[in-house]
Amino acid sequence: MLTDELRNTLIQTAIEARKWAYAPYSNYAVGAALLTTSGRVYDGVNVENAAYPTGMCAERVAMYKAVSEGEQRFSAIAVVTSNGGTPCGACRQALSEFGLDVQVLIADEQGRLVQETSLRELLPGAFGPEDLPRK
Ligand SMILES: [Zn+2]
Repeated sequence: MLTDELRNTLIQTAIEARKWAYAPYSNYAVGAALLTTSGRVYDGVNVENAAYPTGMCAERVAMYKAVSEGEQRFSAIAVVTSNGGTPCGACRQALSEFGLDVQVLIADEQGRLVQETSLRELLPGAFGPEDLPRK
């Protein structure tokens, strides 16, 4: 379980990162902070693009940063938006690749914790690596 101090650290990190969101089309800035089991925190922001599908969510940016630095075990992620929006389906699926035991903190831009849940709750019946036959 996360301590209150760690919760606050993750939410504040996501709030700080959110300032760098590139969201000129939706104007919906998102900041994320992903805690690995090794104790490192990777932040991320949404990065939109004029060719809309090319954009990327904050949660996946944070996860890809972590994976690209050798981290594949996550314990929590904080997501901050103006109104406490939850991670999209694609981000839920992407995060689930490395396990469903991830606490998810949803906060608004004032840092208020709107919802605390888990990836397992957000993605019931997840399709994962174990569903693919291995040779
Ligand atoms: Zn997403």
